[in-house]
Amino acid sequence: MLGLMQNWPLLCHRIIDHAAAIHGQQEVVTRSVEGPIHRTTYAAIRGNALKVGQQLDRHGIKIGDRVATIAWNTWRHLEAWYGIMGIGAVCHTVNPRLFPDQIVWIVNHAQDRIMMTDLTFVPLLEKIADKMPSVERYIVFTDRAHMPQTTLKNAIAYEDWIAEADGDFRWKEFDENTAAAMCYTSGTTGDPKGVLYSHRSNVLHAMMANNPDALGTRAKDTMLPVVPLFHANSWGIAFSAPSMGTKLVMPGPKLDGASVYELLSTEKVTYSAGVPTVWLMLLQYMATEKKTLPDLKVVVCGGSAMPRSMIKAFMDMGVEPRHAWGMTEMSPLGTVGALKPPFANLTGEAALDVLQTQGYPPFGVQMKITDDAGKPQPWDAKTFGRLKVSGPSISKAYYRLDANILDEDGFFDTGDVATMDPYGYMRITDRSKDVIKSGGEWISSIDLENLAVGHPKVLEAAVIGVQHPKWDERPLLIVQLKPDQQATREDILQYMDGKIAKWWMPDDVQFVDSIPHTATGKILKIALREQFKDYRFPTAAA
Ligand code: AMP
Repeated sequence: MLGLMQNWPLLCHRIIDHAAAIHGQQEVVTRSVEGPIHRTTYAAIRGNALKVGQQLDRHGIKIGDRVATIAWNTWRHLEAWYGIMGIGAVCHTVNPRLFPDQIVWIVNHAQDRIMMTDLTFVPLLEKIADKMPSVERYIVFTDRAHMPQTTLKNAIAYEDWIAEADGDFRWKEFDENTAAAMCYTSGTTGDPKGVLYSHRSNVLHAMMANNPDALGTRAKDTMLPVVPLFHANSWGIAFSAPSMGTKLVMPGPKLDGASVYELLSTEKVTYSAGVPTVWLMLLQYMATEKKTLPDLKVVVCGGSAMPRSMIKAFMDMGVEPRHAWGMTEMSPLGTVGALKPPFANLTGEAALDVLQTQGYPPFGVQMKITDDAGKPQPWDAKTFGRLKVSGPSISKAYYRLDANILDEDGFFDTGDVATMDPYGYMRITDRSKDVIKSGGEWISSIDLENLAVGHPKVLEAAVIGVQHPKWDERPLLIVQLKPDQQATREDILQYMDGKIAKWWMPDDVQFVDSIPHTATGKILKIALREQFKDYRFPTAAA
């Protein structure tokens, strides 16, 4: 027997419809690419999103066609986002930090028909446009006054383009399983892989993110997503915040400590989300300038491990740090680190111990850890295993790739290695390819990195496994010091000594001017391995 409830498809544009109807006057504030602060509302964003849909429809964009954006977090990007999805086209967010050749590869693989972009990226696109023949038209997120002379095909200023529409338009009707958005994984090896979100998966993910122990903002909150729309759906915030009527503050192109601080402060932001690098810059700026943020309540940090010292810095400011883990294939939320019973009343170091884990999954994400043969491992907080996940907003396949990516129980292998504890808290110990295999045992590079960045002179640290004649691999610690700071190998090792098992101690420390990052802000270990490919440990020379 079937239930007798309405069939109300879970469609992304219903979120902006709701935001406009119920929270229509709520503000969306942006530091515009042109410079000034811009203010609009959810009602106005929906109005312009309808015009985007109308214009795309006139252009002949059909359900399933891909429309790309290469753009910062701004109100125009949000309008385009909902406008594209509302006609059943696929909003393909391209990461501008990728190498130009990767952008070309991705756009050709996706066969994007229209490209919407910011002034910032016009010069980049002009150089590669002739290699992207599927793109019929470029729309630049600006007005006529700021529109540059450009060789981009059929280029038009966004404001002129939407001014051609009257907005007398209805969203298209389609099934909730229709593709809504796509995002290619940055992938440090091999070709990028296209993750294809559906309307249903995005709406369910937004509801999951709105869990108060996850990103759960309220209508009276203000959220600043530093995490870009092009990085795994801005962690779903472009859906979850409007669905709650939360005020959004969009940082545009300026993500340095001073600029992010200014917006957090002047707009009285209560929630923010971003990768550790961003918070490092903010905390440094605030320490140097002796600034405070009395309104900030929650900072969500993920994408890479959040160091213990950073968690403590936020706690000392009276801000609740929420360490989150996820991935593009998971839309992206997997776990969030809130303190739940029996840990809810912990303080100090004991609280840090729990908050340093990557947290526990909300309803909608199922997890298991297994050995290489697929056998489930115990949740004892000690045993490492391959982390596998299932849920309604987790990929079952990649775009235009035939390979099966699920195990026999329908779980996706995240490529991460983790422990689980009896309370469901998960701790990432490594990417499976980064874990250091020493004498048949595993050493977590992330744990060593987290410890090393606790040293007051260390800005960033990376650990890679280097071949060792006796142990197979041993950890090499690579350190970038804070500006104008000096430290020796012994200083760093002494600091770490006694805080980890003896056999986990790095065999050596190398100092570098800068640690390379991927387009999504993760440490680029493949480049470090290349840089240190001829390195041999002094003790292993013989
Ligand atoms: P992406 O799809 O680019 O977001 O990358 C996802 C990967 O980033 C995950 O599989 C993890 O390896 C890593 N990652 C994300 N969040 C964290 C975290 N909090 N701690 C450690 N690694 C993380």
